Amino acid sequence: MREDFNPEDLTVSWIQQVHAYVPGEQPQSKGWVKLNTNENPYPPSAQVAKAVAEQIEALRLYPQPQSQSLRVAIAERFALTADQVIIGNGSDNILDMITRSFVGLGQAGHSVPSYSLYPVVVGLSGGDLINIPFEASMELPIDVIAKTPASVFFLTNPNAPTGVCFSLDAIETILQKIQGILVVDEAYIDFGGTSAAALLASYKNLIVVQTFSKAHSLAGLRVGYALADASIIAILDRVRDAYNVDRLAQAGALAALQDRAQFDANTARIVQTRSDAQAKLDALGWFTYPSKANFLFTQPVDASGSNGAQVAKSLFEYLKANHILVRYFDIHPLTCSFLRVSIGTDSEMKSFFGGIESWLKQELQN
Ligand code: PMP
Repeated sequence: MREDFNPEDLTVSWIQQVHAYVPGEQPQSKGWVKLNTNENPYPPSAQVAKAVAEQIEALRLYPQPQSQSLRVAIAERFALTADQVIIGNGSDNILDMITRSFVGLGQAGHSVPSYSLYPVVVGLSGGDLINIPFEASMELPIDVIAKTPASVFFLTNPNAPTGVCFSLDAIETILQKIQGILVVDEAYIDFGGTSAAALLASYKNLIVVQTFSKAHSLAGLRVGYALADASIIAILDRVRDAYNVDRLAQAGALAALQDRAQFDANTARIVQTRSDAQAKLDALGWFTYPSKANFLFTQPVDASGSNGAQVAKSLFEYLKANHILVRYFDIHPLTCSFLRVSIGTDSEMKSFFGGIESWLKQELQN
């Protein structure tokens, strides 16, 4: 063993600083009510299984490098041309391609709180990240964002972890003024938001990012995409791994896209369950941000009428001890007194509310 060898000494300076993305817990044992990573509680279209199975024999062959069939189908869906679409191994892969192409050692911006992958991808490219803080109202600080000198600004719409949705007017104002590229990350757009894709015809500095992970129930397949002017897509295509999306993923995503009926039915169910859950949280007297996503960000109140970080943590831990997982972001003052709850099936939500009820009861006894 060579004791003098330490790979840290050879590590690229900015990689030494990177903290890897911390995903929500994925318990391997059964019996969990899993409301912590905004997955879809319903299975994907039955057409996905069929399309994936049909690819098995062809797995000896490389996939289409640019996922061309899927690209064409997505382009049609948005009335765009295929050269305005690029497919990624999840939208995380797209966000990384954007950063590598347009940020590098330069600057990116994002609003805080939002998706915690942006600091990771910017860190990996050696860039600096400008943080634009939200107020507790979660209103979009349009003028501050519009003045950001960064080459890329990441805007999550609807926002995560709050679920708050921003208007197309606000996005258009930013697009008119901002000096760099505005990336609108629409991972949750299908649960009631309005996509900025309609603005692509007028703004060359817009990239819209969407995913099959949420509304299409395909988080495990890893397919996301970006829509933008062909000149932007051509640049992203230079940094794309040659075969970044495998055959099963391309075929499965295409089948899901074509099953519009299943997509519409599942999103409608989730929106209905979200509105029922919101009403129940309102009845408890808990503040919850209005959500257009498949989750709710709510501020628990304990039996004595208090809220705060300790209260949120106490409920989080109580639920976890009862095999109900939600997400707690303790690091930020605007998030630490809240819990983020993904919208599950009606029965999962019943377990969640049952958990709250018994937590309140045991609090009273203590
Ligand atoms: N953007 C946001 C705002 C997200 O919450 C997520 C999911 N964690 C993603 C992008 C990434 O989704 P995926 O890589 O599964 O497409």
